[in-house]
Amino acid sequence: MCYAIPGKIILIDGKFVTLEYFGEKRKARNEFYDIAIGEYVYAQGGFIVQKIEESEALPLLEIWKEVFVVLKERDLRLVSEPKTLYQTANAKRQQVLGNSCCVHGIIEFSNYCVNDCLYCGIRKSNSKVKRYRMSIEEILAATKDAVSRLGFKAIVFQSGECPYYTDEMLIDLVKSARALGILVTMSVGERSIESYKKMYDSGARSVLIRFETSNKKVFGKIKPESDFDKRINLIKALRDMGYLVMTGFLIGLPGQTEQDTMEDIKLTGELQTEMFSFGPFLPHPETPLKAEKSPSLEMCLNTIARARIMFPESKIVVTTAIETLEKNNGAKAGLMAGANSLMVNITPEKYRCCYEIYPERACNDVKVEDRIKYVINLLNSLGRAPTDIGI
Ligand code: SAH
Repeated sequence: MCYAIPGKIILIDGKFVTLEYFGEKRKARNEFYDIAIGEYVYAQGGFIVQKIEESEALPLLEIWKEVFVVLKERDLRLVSEPKTLYQTANAKRQQVLGNSCCVHGIIEFSNYCVNDCLYCGIRKSNSKVKRYRMSIEEILAATKDAVSRLGFKAIVFQSGECPYYTDEMLIDLVKSARALGILVTMSVGERSIESYKKMYDSGARSVLIRFETSNKKVFGKIKPESDFDKRINLIKALRDMGYLVMTGFLIGLPGQTEQDTMEDIKLTGELQTEMFSFGPFLPHPETPLKAEKSPSLEMCLNTIARARIMFPESKIVVTTAIETLEKNNGAKAGLMAGANSLMVNITPEKYRCCYEIYPERACNDVKVEDRIKYVINLLNSLGRAPTDIGI
Protein backbone atom coordinates (compact mmCIF):
# COMPACT_ATOMS: atom_id res chain seq x y z
CA MET A 1 0.00 0.00 0.00
CA CYS A 2 1.23 3.45 -0.80
CA TYR A 3 0.15 6.71 0.76
CA ALA A 4 1.93 9.00 -1.62
CA ILE A 5 2.27 9.56 -5.34
CA PRO A 6 5.82 10.35 -6.45
CA GLY A 7 6.31 13.74 -8.11
CA LYS A 8 8.83 14.80 -10.75
CA ILE A 9 10.93 17.87 -10.01
CA ILE A 10 10.29 20.43 -12.75
CA LEU A 11 11.60 23.61 -11.13
CA ILE A 12 14.04 24.44 -8.34
CA ASP A 13 14.18 27.89 -6.78
CA GLY A 14 16.51 27.60 -3.79
CA LYS A 15 14.63 25.63 -1.16
CA PHE A 16 11.39 25.83 -3.13
CA VAL A 17 10.64 23.15 -5.64
CA THR A 18 7.79 22.58 -8.08
CA LEU A 19 6.69 18.98 -8.50
CA GLU A 20 4.46 17.55 -11.16
CA TYR A 21 2.33 14.44 -11.35
CA PHE A 22 -0.29 13.75 -14.01
CA GLY A 23 -0.31 17.42 -15.02
CA GLU A 24 -0.92 18.62 -11.42
CA LYS A 25 1.72 21.02 -10.13
CA ARG A 26 2.54 21.28 -6.45
CA LYS A 27 5.03 23.32 -4.43
CA ALA A 28 7.23 21.72 -1.79
CA ARG A 29 10.26 22.65 0.29
CA ASN A 30 13.52 20.77 0.05
CA GLU A 31 15.55 20.77 3.25
CA PHE A 32 17.01 17.30 3.27
CA TYR A 33 18.36 16.27 -0.16
CA ASP A 34 20.61 17.10 -3.11
CA ILE A 35 18.17 17.25 -5.99
CA ALA A 36 18.08 18.00 -9.69
CA ILE A 37 15.37 18.74 -12.23
CA GLY A 38 13.92 15.53 -13.65
CA GLU A 39 14.41 13.52 -10.45
CA TYR A 40 11.54 11.90 -8.54
CA VAL A 41 10.63 12.47 -4.91
CA TYR A 42 7.91 11.92 -2.35
CA ALA A 43 6.59 14.95 -0.49
CA GLN A 44 4.42 15.21 2.63
CA GLY A 45 2.97 18.35 4.14
CA GLY A 46 4.89 20.41 1.59
CA PHE A 47 8.28 18.89 2.50
CA ILE A 48 10.29 16.56 0.29
CA VAL A 49 10.69 13.54 2.52
CA GLN A 50 12.24 10.96 0.20
CA LYS A 51 14.09 10.74 -3.09
CA ILE A 52 13.41 7.77 -5.30
CA GLU A 53 14.91 6.31 -8.46
CA GLU A 54 13.16 6.88 -11.77
CA SER A 55 13.03 3.10 -12.23
CA GLU A 56 10.96 2.88 -9.03
CA ALA A 57 8.83 5.97 -9.69
CA LEU A 58 7.70 5.24 -13.24
CA PRO A 59 5.94 1.92 -12.58
CA LEU A 60 4.22 3.48 -9.54
CA LEU A 61 3.04 6.44 -11.61
CA GLU A 62 1.84 4.06 -14.29
CA ILE A 63 -0.33 2.24 -11.74
CA TRP A 64 -1.61 5.48 -10.28
CA LYS A 65 -2.34 7.18 -13.59
CA GLU A 66 -5.59 5.47 -14.48
CA VAL A 67 -6.77 5.33 -10.89
CA PHE A 68 -6.08 9.02 -10.46
CA VAL A 69 -8.19 10.07 -13.44
CA VAL A 70 -11.11 7.93 -12.25
CA LEU A 71 -10.84 9.31 -8.70
CA LYS A 72 -10.71 12.90 -9.91
CA GLU A 73 -13.83 12.45 -12.02
CA ARG A 74 -15.66 10.77 -9.15
CA ASP A 75 -14.73 13.59 -6.76
CA LEU A 76 -15.90 16.22 -9.26
CA ARG A 77 -19.21 14.44 -9.73
CA LEU A 78 -19.77 14.37 -5.98
CA VAL A 79 -19.25 18.11 -5.53
CA SER A 80 -21.45 19.37 -8.35
CA GLU A 81 -24.36 21.68 -7.55
CA PRO A 82 -23.70 22.32 -3.87
CA LYS A 83 -26.80 23.34 -1.87
CA THR A 84 -26.24 22.66 1.82
CA LEU A 85 -23.52 23.99 4.14
CA TYR A 86 -21.65 20.69 3.97
CA GLN A 87 -21.87 20.50 0.19
CA THR A 88 -20.65 24.09 -0.14
CA ALA A 89 -17.69 23.36 2.13
CA ASN A 90 -16.87 20.16 0.24
CA ALA A 91 -17.00 21.97 -3.09
CA LYS A 92 -14.61 24.58 -1.68
CA ARG A 93 -12.23 21.79 -0.66
CA GLN A 94 -12.33 20.37 -4.17
CA GLN A 95 -11.79 23.77 -5.84
CA VAL A 96 -8.86 24.79 -3.66
CA LEU A 97 -7.11 21.54 -2.83
CA GLY A 98 -8.25 18.99 -5.37
CA ASN A 99 -8.86 15.41 -4.35
CA SER A 100 -5.73 14.70 -2.30
CA CYS A 101 -6.34 13.35 1.17
CA CYS A 102 -3.41 12.83 3.47
CA VAL A 103 -3.34 9.72 5.58
CA HIS A 104 -1.09 9.94 8.61
CA GLY A 105 -0.16 7.08 10.88
CA ILE A 106 -0.11 7.75 14.62
CA ILE A 107 1.89 5.87 17.24
CA GLU A 108 0.83 6.58 20.82
CA PHE A 109 4.03 5.65 22.55
CA SER A 110 3.24 6.38 26.22
CA ASN A 111 0.16 7.12 28.30
CA TYR A 112 2.04 8.44 31.32
CA CYS A 113 1.17 12.08 31.93
CA VAL A 114 2.18 14.61 34.57
CA ASN A 115 -0.97 16.66 33.95
CA ASP A 116 -4.42 16.36 35.42
CA CYS A 117 -6.59 17.80 32.63
CA LEU A 118 -10.20 17.39 33.70
CA TYR A 119 -11.38 15.86 30.41
CA CYS A 120 -8.60 13.39 29.77
CA GLY A 121 -8.70 9.68 30.58
CA ILE A 122 -4.90 9.44 30.93
CA ARG A 123 -4.73 12.29 33.48
CA LYS A 124 -2.32 11.48 36.26
CA SER A 125 -5.05 10.99 38.89
CA ASN A 126 -6.64 8.15 36.98
CA SER A 127 -5.17 5.19 38.85
CA LYS A 128 -7.35 2.69 36.96
CA VAL A 129 -5.61 3.07 33.60
CA LYS A 130 -2.80 0.62 32.91
CA ARG A 131 0.26 2.75 32.18
CA TYR A 132 2.85 1.95 29.51
CA ARG A 133 5.98 3.45 28.04
CA MET A 134 7.41 2.08 24.82
CA SER A 135 11.18 2.00 24.53
CA ILE A 136 12.74 3.95 21.65
CA GLU A 137 13.65 0.61 20.04
CA GLU A 138 10.03 -0.53 20.28
CA ILE A 139 8.74 2.73 18.80
CA LEU A 140 11.22 2.47 15.96
CA ALA A 141 10.31 -1.14 15.26
CA ALA A 142 6.64 -0.09 14.94
CA THR A 143 7.68 2.85 12.73
CA LYS A 144 9.79 0.69 10.42
CA ASP A 145 6.92 -1.74 10.01
CA ALA A 146 4.52 1.11 9.23
CA VAL A 147 6.89 2.55 6.64
CA SER A 148 8.24 -0.53 4.91
CA ARG A 149 5.30 -2.93 5.13
CA LEU A 150 2.31 -0.59 5.28
CA GLY A 151 3.66 2.28 3.15
CA PHE A 152 3.20 5.27 5.46
CA LYS A 153 5.05 8.46 4.57
CA ALA A 154 3.97 10.58 7.54
CA ILE A 155 3.91 9.49 11.16
CA VAL A 156 2.77 11.28 14.30
CA PHE A 157 4.47 10.31 17.57
CA GLN A 158 2.12 11.07 20.45
CA SER A 159 2.26 10.66 24.22
CA GLY A 160 1.02 12.18 27.43
CA GLU A 161 3.42 14.72 28.94
CA CYS A 162 6.04 12.24 29.99
CA PRO A 163 9.41 13.55 31.23
CA TYR A 164 10.77 9.98 31.28
CA TYR A 165 11.65 10.64 27.64
CA THR A 166 14.70 12.90 27.75
CA ASP A 167 15.63 15.22 24.89
CA GLU A 168 18.36 12.75 23.93
CA MET A 169 15.85 9.91 23.66
CA LEU A 170 13.46 11.94 21.51
CA ILE A 171 16.30 13.16 19.30
CA ASP A 172 17.31 9.57 18.79
CA LEU A 173 13.75 8.72 17.82
CA VAL A 174 13.40 11.69 15.43
CA LYS A 175 16.72 11.03 13.69
CA SER A 176 16.07 7.34 13.15
CA ALA A 177 12.45 7.92 12.03
CA ARG A 178 13.45 10.72 9.66
CA ALA A 179 16.13 8.44 8.13
CA LEU A 180 13.28 6.21 6.94
CA GLY A 181 12.16 9.00 4.57
CA ILE A 182 9.00 10.21 6.30
CA LEU A 183 7.50 13.42 7.66
CA VAL A 184 8.03 13.25 11.43
CA THR A 185 5.33 14.90 13.57
CA MET A 186 5.81 15.21 17.32
CA SER A 187 2.83 15.40 19.66
CA VAL A 188 4.34 15.36 23.12
CA GLY A 189 2.70 18.40 24.73
CA GLU A 190 4.47 21.27 26.42
CA ARG A 191 8.25 20.90 26.41
CA SER A 192 10.86 23.68 26.36
CA ILE A 193 11.64 25.67 23.21
CA GLU A 194 15.18 24.23 23.38
CA SER A 195 13.81 20.73 23.42
CA TYR A 196 11.67 21.42 20.33
CA LYS A 197 14.61 23.16 18.63
CA LYS A 198 16.74 20.05 19.09
CA MET A 199 13.99 17.87 17.62
CA TYR A 200 13.69 20.27 14.67
CA ASP A 201 17.45 20.15 14.09
CA SER A 202 17.23 16.35 14.16
CA GLY A 203 14.68 16.35 11.32
CA ALA A 204 11.20 16.73 12.87
CA ARG A 205 9.20 19.18 10.75
CA SER A 206 5.75 19.08 12.21
CA VAL A 207 4.07 19.31 15.62
CA LEU A 208 0.57 18.42 16.73
CA ILE A 209 -0.42 20.44 19.76
CA ARG A 210 -3.95 21.64 20.37
CA PHE A 211 -4.76 24.77 22.34
CA GLU A 212 -7.95 22.87 23.40
CA THR A 213 -10.16 25.98 23.73
CA SER A 214 -9.78 29.68 22.98
CA ASN A 215 -12.03 30.52 25.93
CA LYS A 216 -9.48 31.38 28.63
CA LYS A 217 -11.98 30.87 31.44
CA VAL A 218 -12.87 27.36 30.24
CA PHE A 219 -9.18 26.63 29.63
CA GLY A 220 -8.31 27.61 33.21
CA LYS A 221 -10.94 25.20 34.53
CA ILE A 222 -10.18 22.16 32.37
CA LYS A 223 -6.39 22.42 32.24
CA PRO A 224 -5.57 23.60 35.75
CA GLU A 225 -1.78 23.16 35.59
CA SER A 226 -1.42 24.84 32.23
CA ASP A 227 -1.50 28.48 31.17
CA PHE A 228 -3.39 29.52 28.03
CA ASP A 229 -0.98 32.27 26.97
CA LYS A 230 2.02 30.04 27.56
CA ARG A 231 0.55 27.29 25.37
CA ILE A 232 -0.35 29.72 22.57
CA ASN A 233 3.10 31.31 22.75
CA LEU A 234 4.68 27.88 22.47
CA ILE A 235 2.57 27.09 19.39
CA LYS A 236 3.60 30.42 17.81
CA ALA A 237 7.27 29.84 18.64
CA LEU A 238 7.14 26.39 17.04
CA ARG A 239 5.55 27.84 13.92
CA ASP A 240 8.25 30.54 13.78
CA MET A 241 10.94 27.88 14.20
CA GLY A 242 9.74 26.37 10.92
CA TYR A 243 7.50 23.57 12.13
CA LEU A 244 4.26 22.80 10.33
CA VAL A 245 1.67 23.30 13.04
CA MET A 246 -1.28 21.00 13.49
CA THR A 247 -3.53 22.48 16.10
CA GLY A 248 -7.11 22.81 17.17
CA PHE A 249 -9.58 22.32 19.97
CA LEU A 250 -12.25 20.29 21.68
CA ILE A 251 -15.88 20.76 20.68
CA GLY A 252 -18.58 20.74 23.33
CA LEU A 253 -16.58 21.17 26.53
CA PRO A 254 -18.71 22.12 29.53
CA GLY A 255 -19.10 25.90 29.57
CA GLN A 256 -18.29 26.31 25.89
CA THR A 257 -20.73 28.09 23.59
CA GLU A 258 -21.21 27.91 19.82
CA GLN A 259 -19.61 31.35 19.61
CA ASP A 260 -16.57 29.90 21.40
CA THR A 261 -16.29 27.25 18.69
CA MET A 262 -16.32 29.98 16.03
CA GLU A 263 -13.52 31.71 17.95
CA ASP A 264 -11.69 28.37 18.14
CA ILE A 265 -11.84 28.03 14.35
CA LYS A 266 -10.62 31.61 13.96
CA LEU A 267 -7.69 31.09 16.31
CA THR A 268 -6.69 27.80 14.66
CA GLY A 269 -6.54 29.53 11.28
CA GLU A 270 -4.75 32.59 12.65
CA LEU A 271 -2.00 30.37 14.03
CA GLN A 272 -1.15 29.64 10.35
CA THR A 273 -2.03 26.05 10.75
CA GLU A 274 -0.93 23.30 8.40
CA MET A 275 -3.73 21.15 9.66
CA PHE A 276 -6.87 21.65 11.74
CA SER A 277 -7.24 18.93 14.37
CA PHE A 278 -10.39 19.11 16.43
CA GLY A 279 -12.90 16.69 17.78
CA PRO A 280 -15.78 16.26 20.20
CA PHE A 281 -15.19 16.17 23.93
CA LEU A 282 -16.11 12.61 24.96
CA PRO A 283 -16.65 12.16 28.71
CA HIS A 284 -14.42 9.57 30.34
CA PRO A 285 -15.87 7.72 33.37
CA GLU A 286 -12.68 8.12 35.43
CA THR A 287 -12.56 11.91 35.15
CA PRO A 288 -14.34 14.75 36.97
CA LEU A 289 -16.29 15.45 33.75
CA LYS A 290 -17.78 11.96 33.60
CA ALA A 291 -21.39 13.15 33.93
CA GLU A 292 -21.14 15.70 31.11
CA LYS A 293 -22.53 15.15 27.61
CA SER A 294 -20.67 14.84 24.33
CA PRO A 295 -21.74 17.04 21.39
CA SER A 296 -23.60 15.70 18.35
CA LEU A 297 -21.97 14.59 15.11
CA GLU A 298 -23.87 17.44 13.47
CA MET A 299 -22.05 19.96 15.65
CA CYS A 300 -18.72 18.46 14.60
CA LEU A 301 -19.66 18.46 10.92
CA ASN A 302 -20.78 22.09 11.18
CA THR A 303 -17.39 22.90 12.65
CA ILE A 304 -15.57 21.12 9.81
CA ALA A 305 -17.68 22.92 7.20
CA ARG A 306 -17.23 26.32 8.83
CA ALA A 307 -13.48 25.79 9.17
CA ARG A 308 -13.26 24.84 5.49
CA ILE A 309 -15.21 27.91 4.39
CA MET A 310 -13.25 30.28 6.63
CA PHE A 311 -9.84 28.79 5.81
CA PRO A 312 -10.18 27.12 2.39
CA GLU A 313 -6.51 26.15 2.03
CA SER A 314 -6.12 24.26 5.27
CA LYS A 315 -6.05 20.55 5.78
CA ILE A 316 -8.77 19.34 8.09
CA VAL A 317 -8.49 15.94 9.68
CA VAL A 318 -11.45 13.74 10.55
CA THR A 319 -10.21 12.76 13.98
CA THR A 320 -10.78 9.38 15.62
CA ALA A 321 -12.97 11.19 18.17
CA ILE A 322 -15.32 12.28 15.36
CA GLU A 323 -15.34 8.71 14.06
CA THR A 324 -16.09 7.49 17.58
CA LEU A 325 -19.28 9.58 17.70
CA GLU A 326 -20.73 7.62 14.80
CA LYS A 327 -18.62 4.60 14.09
CA ASN A 328 -19.99 3.64 10.68
CA ASN A 329 -20.47 7.07 9.26
CA GLY A 330 -18.22 9.64 10.99
CA ALA A 331 -15.27 9.46 8.58
CA LYS A 332 -17.38 9.62 5.44
CA ALA A 333 -19.59 12.40 6.78
CA GLY A 334 -16.50 14.41 7.81
CA LEU A 335 -14.86 14.06 4.40
CA MET A 336 -18.14 15.10 2.72
CA ALA A 337 -18.39 18.18 4.95
CA GLY A 338 -15.02 19.56 3.82
CA ALA A 339 -12.34 17.50 5.59
CA ASN A 340 -9.41 16.09 3.65
CA SER A 341 -7.31 14.04 5.99
CA LEU A 342 -7.54 10.86 8.06
CA MET A 343 -5.45 9.21 10.75
CA VAL A 344 -4.67 5.53 11.07
CA ASN A 345 -3.73 4.33 14.53
CA ILE A 346 -0.64 2.17 14.20
CA THR A 347 0.11 1.86 17.92
CA PRO A 348 0.95 -1.80 18.64
CA GLU A 349 -2.27 -3.59 19.59
CA LYS A 350 -1.17 -4.52 23.10
CA TYR A 351 -0.84 -0.82 24.01
CA ARG A 352 -3.66 0.71 21.98
CA CYS A 353 -6.43 0.00 24.46
CA CYS A 354 -4.41 1.66 27.27
CA TYR A 355 -4.23 5.00 25.47
CA GLU A 356 -7.73 5.67 26.66
CA ILE A 357 -8.03 9.46 26.46
CA TYR A 358 -11.76 8.83 26.01
CA PRO A 359 -13.73 5.58 26.12
CA GLU A 360 -14.63 3.22 23.29
CA ARG A 361 -12.37 4.78 20.73
CA ALA A 362 -13.22 3.89 17.14
CA CYS A 363 -10.88 1.29 15.63
CA ASN A 364 -9.26 0.34 18.95
CA ASP A 365 -9.92 -3.30 18.25
CA VAL A 366 -9.53 -3.14 14.47
CA LYS A 367 -6.39 -4.66 12.92
CA VAL A 368 -4.24 -2.04 11.18
CA GLU A 369 -4.50 -3.94 7.89
CA ASP A 370 -8.31 -3.86 8.10
CA ARG A 371 -8.34 -0.20 9.00
CA ILE A 372 -6.15 0.56 5.98
CA LYS A 373 -8.47 -1.42 3.74
CA TYR A 374 -11.43 0.53 5.12
CA VAL A 375 -9.69 3.88 4.56
CA ILE A 376 -8.63 3.04 1.02
CA ASN A 377 -12.10 1.81 0.09
CA LEU A 378 -13.71 4.87 1.63
CA LEU A 379 -11.37 7.27 -0.18
CA ASN A 380 -11.86 5.35 -3.40
CA SER A 381 -15.64 5.56 -3.09
CA LEU A 382 -15.41 9.33 -2.60
CA GLY A 383 -12.89 9.94 -5.40
CA ARG A 384 -10.07 10.95 -3.09
CA ALA A 385 -6.44 10.09 -3.70
CA PRO A 386 -4.50 9.04 -0.59
CA THR A 387 -1.67 11.47 -1.17
CA ASP A 388 -0.27 14.68 0.16
CA ILE A 389 2.33 15.94 -2.20
CA GLY A 390 2.46 19.68 -1.59
CA ILE A 391 0.44 22.82 -1.92
N1 SAH B 1 0.29 15.44 25.54
C1 SAH B 1 -0.07 15.84 24.22
C2 SAH B 1 -1.11 14.94 23.61
C3 SAH B 1 -2.40 14.94 24.35
S1 SAH B 1 -3.58 13.72 23.92
C4 SAH B 1 -0.51 17.30 24.24
O1 SAH B 1 -0.69 17.89 25.29
O2 SAH B 1 -0.64 17.86 23.16
C5 SAH B 1 -4.19 14.36 22.42
C6 SAH B 1 -5.50 15.09 22.45
O3 SAH B 1 -6.54 14.24 22.92
C7 SAH B 1 -5.60 16.27 23.37
O4 SAH B 1 -4.99 17.40 22.80
C8 SAH B 1 -7.10 16.43 23.58
O5 SAH B 1 -7.65 17.43 22.73
C9 SAH B 1 -7.67 15.05 23.19
N2 SAH B 1 -8.47 14.49 24.29
C10 SAH B 1 -8.09 14.24 25.54
N3 SAH B 1 -9.15 13.81 26.29
C11 SAH B 1 -10.22 13.79 25.48
C12 SAH B 1 -11.60 13.48 25.65
N4 SAH B 1 -12.10 13.10 26.82
N5 SAH B 1 -12.43 13.59 24.57
C13 SAH B 1 -11.95 13.96 23.38
N6 SAH B 1 -10.66 14.29 23.15
C14 SAH B 1 -9.80 14.21 24.19
